[in-house]
Amino acid sequence: MENILVSACLMGAPVRYNGKSLGLQPQDLDWLKQHFCIKTLCPEVAGGLPVPRAPAELTAHARVMDNTGVDCTDAFVRGAEQTLAFCRAHHIRVAILAEASPSCGSSVIYDGRFSGTKIAGQGVTTALLRRHGIQVFSQHNVAELKQCLRSP
Ligand code: SF4
Repeated sequence: MENILVSACLMGAPVRYNGKSLGLQPQDLDWLKQHFCIKTLCPEVAGGLPVPRAPAELTAHARVMDNTGVDCTDAFVRGAEQTLAFCRAHHIRVAILAEASPSCGSSVIYDGRFSGTKIAGQGVTTALLRRHGIQVFSQHNVAELKQCLRSP
């Protein structure tokens, strides 16, 4: 069975900045288990960041800043590189990553001003994986992945 990467927080691991997790719809999780071997990783933890940690956002200048003003770009880039290496080691071509995260977002991210506003964009890890040919979906568009698998 083909491997798939799923954000660790989407599989219930309490690794988010606030020490909490997210989840997948039960029917999506069931479908994934039937079609893939699920591998999990948190890019930010892989990059050396602690849990909990200050919330961070990607800014217009392509830097990742936390809400105390600390530039944590290096850790985010390290996490993205670790995630790419993990995907290569496990022959992963598809990922489902948590939407809106500065690492894992695939359609939207927060605007970098800690205003609660989302804008079109992608996280640091998602961008790197896509540059290397890995398809990235979010937990909100698993249906698109299903459609891709059905298409010849
Ligand atoms: Fe979840 Fe990705 Fe954030 Fe880790 S970096 S907590 S896997 S959204």
